[in-house]
Order: sequence, then structure tokens, then C-alpha cells
Amino acid sequence: MNYLLLFLAVAVGYFVAVFLKQKELRNMEVFLAFSGAFLLSITVFELIPHVFETPSKSIGVYIMLGILLQIFLEFFSKGAEHGHVHLHSEAKHFPWILFVSLSIHAFMEGFPISEENNLLLAIIIHKIPVAIILSFFFITAGYKKSTTLFFLFFFALMTPLGSFIANNYNFVHQYETQITAVVIGIFLHVSTTILFESSKNHKFNLSKMTAVILAVVIAYFI
Ligand SMILES: [Zn+2]
Ligand SMILES: [Zn+2]
Repeated sequence: MNYLLLFLAVAVGYFVAVFLKQKELRNMEVFLAFSGAFLLSITVFELIPHVFETPSKSIGVYIMLGILLQIFLEFFSKGAEHGHVHLHSEAKHFPWILFVSLSIHAFMEGFPISEENNLLLAIIIHKIPVAIILSFFFITAGYKKSTTLFFLFFFALMTPLGSFIANNYNFVHQYETQITAVVIGIFLHVSTTILFESSKNHKFNLSKMTAVILAVVIAYFI
């Protein structure tokens, strides 16, 4: 069931994008800000306390590795996992580099999903706007429908796949804390970047700010 929901988040994103017009994409920014704040809050309220149940500096090292990994991935994805796409491929070849970097990110974020935390919800909320923006880019850039669907289909499989492996292979369980710490680093970077970019030039925006505060409060009480 969880696997299906994670897959459907991308599918929903695609269908929203099909019906979306350029100017409506602006409203997405409020939703994106909400998703970033919610992901950050779940990370801070639930994942970080979990990995630090036994405090150690080495866990901090894994978190830093996650942050660095995400920075590295964004050299290739150009920030698609936090909500904007820059591709200048006139040839409309399949964007392998974007695909691989996004897939690594999506695969990793599936690992810490469990019954003990609200990460499933946070990732679904995080994935929908990203999938909308990604799909919208593919559609407006004139990629073939088959290319778009191929890309999104396999991208959508990555998080359920990561989650499946975490649940079914014991060797992963042994490294649960370390893997979760790396994913915490990924989430810290992605979500704070979303928040940073949602207040471009530090200009105050009431609706975005409201969305952010709402997300934090909901994540706390959930
Ligand atoms: Zn960016
Ligand atoms: Zn993500």
C-alpha cells in the first residue's frame, strides 16, 4: 500500500501538470514551500532524535555525508528535487544525467520510511510538487510523450524500491542508523534549499510564510 502511494504521488504530479497552465505554476510555490517546511519538520522532530538515541559524533559525519551527497547530486540534477528544472537540450535526447541523479535521490529517501515515523506523508507531500514541476517542464519543452512517461515511470519506482529494500533485506537493517543519517543530510539540504528559494531576495510573502508555519505546526502535532 505504501509503495503504491509513493508511486501515485508522481502519477498525480503528472496529471496535474497536464492540466496546468503557466501562470498557475505560481501557486505551486506556496505548495512547494509547505512541502519543504513539512519535510524539514519531520526530519527535525522525528528522524534526528531517532538516530541520536545513542549520541555519537559518527552519526553527525553520516549526516554531513548526506548533505554533501545531495550537493553533489544537484550539480547534475540542477535542483530538480527541490523544484526547478534547467535543461537546455535542443536535441530532446533522454536526459540521462538528470534521470540518474534524481533516481539516486529518490531511491535513498525511501529507506527510512517506517511505521514509527510520518516520513511517508512527508515524502508524498514533497514528491507531488516536484513531479508537477518536472512533468510540466517535460511537456512545455516539447519532449515526446513516451520519453516523459518513461522518465516519470522509472523515477516513480525509485522511492518504493528503496523502501522495499529497507524492509526486506536484513543487511540494510544493520546499517539503519547510518543510512537514516545520510538521508537526514539529504533532507536537510533539500528542504532548507526549498525554504531559501521560496523567499527569493528575502522578500516577505504572506501566503508562503503562512504555509511554512502551518507545515511546522502540523508536523509537530501529527
Ligand atoms: Zn535551486
Ligand atoms: Zn526528494
